[in-house]
Amino acid sequence: MRVVAVLAMLLAASTATVLVGAEEGWPGEPVDNHVHMTWAAMTIEVNEWADENPDIVDLADVGKSELGRSLWVVRLSDWSIETKADGSAKEIIYIDGGHHGNEYLGTALAWLSAKWYINGWNDGNEEAVRVLQNSEVHVLIMLNPDGNDIDTRWNINQVDLNRNYDHYWNTCPTTQPGSSAFSESETSANSVYMNTVVPEADLYVTMHTGVWIMLYPWGKWPEQPSDWELFHYIRDDVHANISDIPIQNANQGLYPNCGTSRDYGYGVMGFPTFTFETDDEQFVPGSAESLEDRLGEEMDVMRYLIDNVWYWRARLSVTSFVVEDGDIALGIENMGHASTSNATVRYIDDGEVKWTSESFGVNATNSTQTILDASNLTMTDSGQFELYYQKRVIDSSLWVNESIPTEQITISEGSEKGWLPFASPIWAVLAIGLAGIRRNERFIDDCGQPDQTNVSQNADS
Ligand SMILES: [Zn+2]
Repeated sequence: MRVVAVLAMLLAASTATVLVGAEEGWPGEPVDNHVHMTWAAMTIEVNEWADENPDIVDLADVGKSELGRSLWVVRLSDWSIETKADGSAKEIIYIDGGHHGNEYLGTALAWLSAKWYINGWNDGNEEAVRVLQNSEVHVLIMLNPDGNDIDTRWNINQVDLNRNYDHYWNTCPTTQPGSSAFSESETSANSVYMNTVVPEADLYVTMHTGVWIMLYPWGKWPEQPSDWELFHYIRDDVHANISDIPIQNANQGLYPNCGTSRDYGYGVMGFPTFTFETDDEQFVPGSAESLEDRLGEEMDVMRYLIDNVWYWRARLSVTSFVVEDGDIALGIENMGHASTSNATVRYIDDGEVKWTSESFGVNATNSTQTILDASNLTMTDSGQFELYYQKRVIDSSLWVNESIPTEQITISEGSEKGWLPFASPIWAVLAIGLAGIRRNERFIDDCGQPDQTNVSQNADS
């Protein structure tokens, strides 16, 4: 099945060549020319992608390496429409590869992630079309072109780029983390991209090569991250339906590490973040066929994460909302797979928050019934209710405000008590008004991590 999947994945390439390659074992075109791409070869190719697929490929030069090579981001979506068909914002996915210049398979997997959707779109593949109509997939294929072209882990300044991020930078016995966080142009450019272009991403995957494993936060601590329910759900779903690749907390699955893009992506940006590692046996004779399986298997997991990105946050949906006697009886369902710990109902009028309820939490894939004290709420003729909550438990995750549809709201008889000055039930219902989903606001708190250090030896990956 996996070989079939890989062949399907590469469909838009030369079919004959793929089949010959498969018969001869791994890799077959087009992967073999991309296991070790030079930066120049990749530059030509991504520009060809953009030239030949202007409807879905938007190529951006988002910064320079220390030696001045462009860092290309391939941005994939159906660019004929800015939003989803229903008018809501597209989901955002961010992928990078090639932090470590000698980890070719990680770079190749980032390349393949972009190529799969381009090929699929052009072939009318249902999944690829669905993803590109509903999402933006941003892929920075090669973050360390200088190191890539001279076959070294480090960048040209001999810095380990994946220890150079501003998240507990240099607090582990790490070798070569740089002179300060983001001292290197490559990591600095990556963080600027995260913060300015894709801050609303609900998935970040960073591609490496080392061992056969997928890692989620933290590298810094052995404890499970605050959004452990989300990560465990994904782990269990992948294991049940796609792959038996080990999926673990990075600190325990690999070794303690600090200042990584993974911990930064989760701890500072609030993204659900995974490090994909492909095993490093690519140059061992006889391992070729296994590698093809493995690249295809990781691509299957990648596609699953992208296709289901809508679920990788809390998605609160009001099932009942009854205002009565100074209370709000609230029924909430969480359609997403992440918990939220500090949701509130707010009353908004004239663009201002006039009232905020006590906070409540909703576990992942759960429903909650709660009574909120609304005795000090005053409704007006133009106000409306909304939910205000964080997408995930991690402190740095985005806050969202989503209007509660009028048709969900019931104002019962007798609720006049204490409701001034527009206390009539009918008046209140009319006053709440219809409103669409408002644009999310981003409020970033300083990241709050468990106050614990784990000092252990650092290994290489
Ligand atoms: Zn690596």
